[in-house]
Order: sequence, then structure tokens, then C-alpha cells
Amino acid sequence: MEKEFQQLTELIQQNTSFVLTTHVNPDGDGIGSVLTMYRILKAHGKEVSIINISETPHYLRFLDKSNVIERFDLQIHPEKFASCDVFIALDFNTVDRMGKMSPVFASVKGKKICIDHHQNPQPVFDLYVCSIEYCATGHILYDYISKSKIVPFANEHAEPLYAAVMTDTGSFRFERTTPDVHRLAARCLEQGVNPTEMYRQIYDQNPFGKMTLLGHALSATELYGDNGEIAVMTVTQQQLADTGMREDDTDGFINICMSVGSVKMGVKFLELKQGFKISLRSKGEIPVHTFAAKYGGGGHKNAAGIRFKEGTMFERKKEIIESAIEFYKGVNHE
Ligand code: 5GP
Ligand code: MN
Repeated sequence: MEKEFQQLTELIQQNTSFVLTTHVNPDGDGIGSVLTMYRILKAHGKEVSIINISETPHYLRFLDKSNVIERFDLQIHPEKFASCDVFIALDFNTVDRMGKMSPVFASVKGKKICIDHHQNPQPVFDLYVCSIEYCATGHILYDYISKSKIVPFANEHAEPLYAAVMTDTGSFRFERTTPDVHRLAARCLEQGVNPTEMYRQIYDQNPFGKMTLLGHALSATELYGDNGEIAVMTVTQQQLADTGMREDDTDGFINICMSVGSVKMGVKFLELKQGFKISLRSKGEIPVHTFAAKYGGGGHKNAAGIRFKEGTMFERKKEIIESAIEFYKGVNHE
């Protein structure tokens, strides 16, 4: 990544105005990464806007104490995309992940940078600071700060980066949790991050309705496969309405299914206001992102997703479950 880091530094030095964004329905890595990049650029006196299509989920708002993240507004923001010197996409690598904001991408006349750790980036950017070796986009940014010395590593970077890495590694347990990731965490603690407080802010602020919703989702979960290897969970709009919860309140539900010993692959169907979304999880060598790609989705080997803009979940569910069973059988399980 040294060459890419060098090119990124040059683009920062040579330009004045920057627009940063992360993906639709942002997670800790998306929010932590845009905030870190914002603070790096601000330290260099740049004009910076963070413009996201979705609002910041309530459990991550504590990271943005100064409220610098803006939500995309068709009246005011397209002009900023068109006129900025540099546009930086963080924690996603295909334009469609910008959701309803995607059309503005084509209007960007400045340099387009992608900083990300997902598979198969779309060939539309001018610079890729990307590698799937990293556990999180925040990890790439940490490496960038450490190696380029673009800013001294301080608490204002440690907080969002710890949140990014903690959430994307499932609290330091997913596959890419390397010694380097723990060294990053240690450096964040040295900069004043309190791990207990960070965990409490992100995971222990749920409304009671979320427990009720999780209860419904878990009790309706079904196992498929010869020995219960595939867990299928479903969340409907009706359940969301009954419990007063939102679609993003179901983030992470599918991970709980993975705690069942027999389960090797988890599939969550989430009915959206329009269309539906599938979240996929797996253990070991089951590349669920290739299954997701079959339906136009993507992600990582052990965590992927698909968004269906058309059609209803109930029409498609049976066929997709059958297809998932076939996919699972076709994987080499050695
Ligand atoms: P989640 O199920 O937690 O929403 O997403 C799991 C992973 O799959 C994330 O790393 C995310 O980037 C990826 N992902 C989720 N939905 C989509 C999608 O609609 N398209 C693509 N390309 N990736 C997705
Ligand atoms: Mn990420």
C-alpha cells in the first residue's frame, strides 16, 4: 500500500476541497472512517464535507459530537459533489452502495478516491487505497496515519478508528483479527479510548423494543440442510411496526444464529419498505460473497449482503433458500 499511501498524500497536498461519503445504512466502520478522514483533512486546513445518504444510526452519534456529518439533500448537495476537487468513498467500492445518492457520482469532476477493504472494486475511481487484507477501512486509515505521518495519531482519530475496528471485527473475533489489529487497539487505548465505555455506547444502548423484535426473529428462525447447517431468519415490516423499530435495528441479528453449533451459514431476510434485503454470514471457507454476487450483492467471504429493489420477500424467499442450500452443498467442505 506504500505507493497508494504516497499518492493519497499527494492528492491531499495538491487539493483544497473534499467531499467524503460512506455507504447506505452506515456501520461503525463507515462512520468511524469518514470522521477520521475528515479530521485528517481539517488538520491540513482543507474544506471538507461529509455527505451520507443515510442518517447516522443512533448508536454511533456519540462519535460525531460536533455534528459534522450531513445527510444528503437534493436541494443543496449535488453542487458540492460537482465542484469538489476530490471525492473520497470510504468503506464501499461500488457506486450503487451510495443508494439514492448514486446519480451524483457521475457529476464529480474532481479526482475520485476509493478507500476500502471489500472484494472486487468497480473500475470507476482514479485512486484505489484498497486491500481485502485489512479487517476494516478504519484499519487502512490507521496504517496510513502511522506510515505517512500525515497527522500525529491523537484521541480524535483513536476514538472513531477503535469503533470502526471493533465493529467490523465483531469485537476482535472475526478472521482478519491479526496481531496488527490488536496493536491498533492498544494504541487507541493509549490515546485515551475506554474500551468498556466504547462497547457500552455501541452495543448496550438498545431500546426494549429491539429485544422484543429479536425474540420474534429468533423464535421464527428455521434450520435447513441435512444437519441444520443453514439458519434462516426473517424480519417483516409488520414486526418492525409492532415493536416500533427500524430496519437498521436488525443489524447484527443474523450473527446470533451463528452461535448454534450446527450452523455454518446464516441468511437473514429483511422486508424493506420497498423491496427486501438479505444478510449472509458464514463460518470458515464458505464464500457467501460469491452467493451474494449471483443476485447483484457483495461483501466479504464470511459476511455479505444483497438488496432487492424490486419484488417482495415472500414471493422470492423459497427460491432463494433453495438456491442457498444448493450453494452450500456445492462448496468444498474439506
Ligand atoms: P450486512 O449484512 O451487515 O448489512 O452486510 C454485510 C456485508 O455485506 C458488509 O460488509 C457490506 O459491505 C456487504 N453488503 C451488504 N449489503 C450489500 C449490498 O447490497 N451490496 C454489496 N455489494 N454489498 C453489500
Ligand atoms: Mn468495513
